[in-house]
Amino acid sequence: MNVVIIGAGPAGLLLAHRLLTRSSHYQVFIYEQRSDPRKLRADQRAFVLSLTERGQKELRAIDGLWPAVDQQGVAICKTGIYNKKLQQWKVFERSSGTEKYSLLINRNNLCAALLDQLEKRDYPGLHLNFDTACMNVHLKACQVTLTNEEGQRIEHSYDLLVGADGIHSVVKAALLKQPGFDFQQSYFDKVWKVLHLPQPQAFAADTSYFFRTSSSTTDPNALPCQISGAAIPELDDQFCLLTFWDQAPDQARNNPPGIETPTDLQQQIYEQWLPGLQVSDAAAQSFCERRPSSILETQCDRYHDRSGQAVLVGDAAHAMSSFLAQGCQAAFADVVALDRCLQASEDQLQIALPQYSALQVKEGHAITELNLLLSPKAKWVSKLFGVAMMMQSKLNQRFPDRISPTPSTLLSKTSVPYAEIYDRFKPWFSLIRWSNQRVLAKQKSARINS
Ligand SMILES: Cc1cc2nc3c(=O)[nH]c(=O)nc-3n(C[C@H](O)[C@H](O)[C@H](O)COP(=O)(O)OP(=O)(O)OC[C@H]3O[C@@H](n4cnc5c(N)ncnc54)[C@H](O)[C@@H]3O)c2cc1C
Repeated sequence: MNVVIIGAGPAGLLLAHRLLTRSSHYQVFIYEQRSDPRKLRADQRAFVLSLTERGQKELRAIDGLWPAVDQQGVAICKTGIYNKKLQQWKVFERSSGTEKYSLLINRNNLCAALLDQLEKRDYPGLHLNFDTACMNVHLKACQVTLTNEEGQRIEHSYDLLVGADGIHSVVKAALLKQPGFDFQQSYFDKVWKVLHLPQPQAFAADTSYFFRTSSSTTDPNALPCQISGAAIPELDDQFCLLTFWDQAPDQARNNPPGIETPTDLQQQIYEQWLPGLQVSDAAAQSFCERRPSSILETQCDRYHDRSGQAVLVGDAAHAMSSFLAQGCQAAFADVVALDRCLQASEDQLQIALPQYSALQVKEGHAITELNLLLSPKAKWVSKLFGVAMMMQSKLNQRFPDRISPTPSTLLSKTSVPYAEIYDRFKPWFSLIRWSNQRVLAKQKSARINS
């Protein structure tokens, strides 16, 4: 069976592993528009992502894969939060069990580890193609058109096409032209930038340091702008600083409010965001010059086209904000579900693809909703929810058989399906959705008036 996978991100590469490990009758052709990530290790735009039990479990299912990935990341058991009153960092243990750490890994290093392992296993059915972009998908003809580095046009026919090509998926764009394919997308009122630094002396290599602050602005009519993020340890004594700030999609600002120059940035980081963290002149300049990335959320009502023999996995199927750190883990779950449906149906796509959609669309919807609803925007709801979840956590510790852990614990320490987590706390989410909509409407009218 000829399987064409567009995109050598975490989802595309894990799928190649699963198919090729399971059966030698697959010919897997992976096409990736970028260069081999093993050549891009110093990429300044690459970010660090966290894999908890949920994502780790899917990697452990393939012999030898998890140790290879684990080696490329940093195990994190502690969280640092700055206490302004005491003027010092407070560090909390995240978990007690040794197996329950989060692995923080640069996305490029994750892909590099998955690739190394694919090549090491010498699968005759593996065909890797970098610097080759998919330009067009002809669903009726079951054929893709690609362009390689030399500008040559390639046509490739497939038995199964997998769109693992991320947020701006070309495969999804083709599916959208099919009748009855429903799709929604919206940009978040947030943007982000990343910065890589040598590990600062006063910061520990096993702790992620978080911050959240409001911008100080001289304009009395301006809405307060939240700036948040984290300094996260990376391999080779590096730290990755991720910064998110409120910014409407139509605002063309390059940096968080209050940051006009690299010196402003250095000062803000050192004094306000991550007290004690020094950023070099060159790193601050490079941060300020780069454009921020926007955050897109998408929801599709199905992930397959039965007649076109095509299917979506990962961010191509459900892009989401990184707030709950679930995108990659949700992508792995798609891959596992797709592989199981193919196996159970003996590759009968008419059966496997609808089954896969039926399983994963509800999961995709649930996690994108959880991403939105686990951060109540109204202060009173946020406080109420915070107190309720604190009580929930205490009660769960006392009566683990009768009281559910909190949604955050279920997300980070278990692999309970997203749809089930959503259902367990549905009344809360109805309240948060209602209050969030009110806050957003108020913010919108304030923006129009100012
Ligand atoms: C700042 C940030 C922090 C994050 N933190 C976390 C976290 O802590 N935990 C977590 O689980 N997730 C996290 N995520 C989300 C996670 O990175 C994504 O969900 C994950 O990378 C999705 O994997 P994917 O393979 O589906 O897509 P991608 O990683 O986007 O890979 C898609 C690949 O397809 C290629 N491609 C695209 N178009 C074409 C084309 N036309 N032809 C050929 N190739 C193409 C791209 O070059 C890319 O390599 C974070 C995301 C961001 C932005």
